[in-house]
Amino acid sequence: MAELFYDDDADLSLIQSKKVAVVGYGSQGHAHALSLRDSGVDVTVGLREGSSSRAKAEEQGLAVASVADAVKGADLVVILAPDQVQRTLYAEDIAPNLKSDATLLFAHGFNIRFGYIKPEAGHDVVMVAPKGPGHLVRREYEAGRGVPVIVAVEQDASGQAWDVALSYAKAIGGLRAAGIKTTFTEETETDLFGEQTVLCGGVSQLIQYGFETLTEAGYQPEVAYFEVLHELKLIVDLIYEGGIAKQRWSVSDTAEYGDYVSGPRVITPQVKENMKAVLGDIQSGAFAERFINDQDAGGPEFKELRAKGEAHPIEATGRELRKLFAWVETTDADYTEGSAG
Ligand code: NDP
Ligand code: MG
Ligand code: MG
Repeated sequence: MAELFYDDDADLSLIQSKKVAVVGYGSQGHAHALSLRDSGVDVTVGLREGSSSRAKAEEQGLAVASVADAVKGADLVVILAPDQVQRTLYAEDIAPNLKSDATLLFAHGFNIRFGYIKPEAGHDVVMVAPKGPGHLVRREYEAGRGVPVIVAVEQDASGQAWDVALSYAKAIGGLRAAGIKTTFTEETETDLFGEQTVLCGGVSQLIQYGFETLTEAGYQPEVAYFEVLHELKLIVDLIYEGGIAKQRWSVSDTAEYGDYVSGPRVITPQVKENMKAVLGDIQSGAFAERFINDQDAGGPEFKELRAKGEAHPIEATGRELRKLFAWVETTDADYTEGSAG
């Protein structure tokens, strides 16, 4: 059984006694900075010159400085800029200004696991990774709850790295839900695997194939949209509440029987072999290298794939239909902020 941590396992005063620099004020950055501040922590947000996030952070009453100035004198530096910029940001703006015994904190292990950032031996290197989007992390904190976090220590120079990581996790509300002990390697590899094969990649492809199959057979796109996309949320809510078993309990016997006989026809054992190949590319660093090389070149492959995804007919159908849904709270303008991680 994994080792779990709760509020009682952490001492909030540890993080309250430190000067914290939060670099980046996006999805995770805003949530961490605001909740740390509300937990009585001394926080400065570090942003680049001309940052579009600056006004938002200042509006919330946070101290804002350049990345270099925020990092200078900080006891703990949280790196919450996008993964693909962290390597350069670290080399150019963070490392040269970092106190020799400052703690480095990440919300995802990518740059440490794949060696893009190699901190000096004097630093504690820890991870507190919320298992949810930043906006939910903040909303839950404000509601007196929290999003579960996973916690890891890569380098423990001070002998206090675990205590500090747990104190931080408590300050952002994570230990109100639970902290799960992991390693940078396990977090990075499982996070990438989950998003690529099931949560993002797998689900997106499954929806698109379902939509294509129905519309190519002559069914109306609006009806197909409901059947393969809209209802997914209702199904996922049931799975979230009580596992696959609760979903099967709630749907009709017809749907449950169809699940058993047709699920394995669609998702064949070959899919599991494909998943193993994806995992292999994650573990070998091949995926990381492809992503970072493309990003370094300005993201040509990324932009092409994004445009192709946006051009899929299900998106146009969805945009029109959602205008008619009075009950869907999220509007199409919402996607511009942050990402799911
Ligand atoms: P975002 O894309 O939301 O971060 C945007 C922020 O980073 C903005 O404040 C932006 O400022 C700043 N930024 C972007 N580029 C640079 C740069 N070159 N130099 C300095 N600042 C820059 O990131 P996320 O919150 O999605 O991710 C942050 C970390 O959290 C990642 O490690 C991610 O894997 C992890 N994570 C994310 C989750 C999520 O919910 N999104 C979930 C769990 C972990 P500007 O206005 O200047 O562009
Ligand atoms: Mg994840
Ligand atoms: Mg992720």
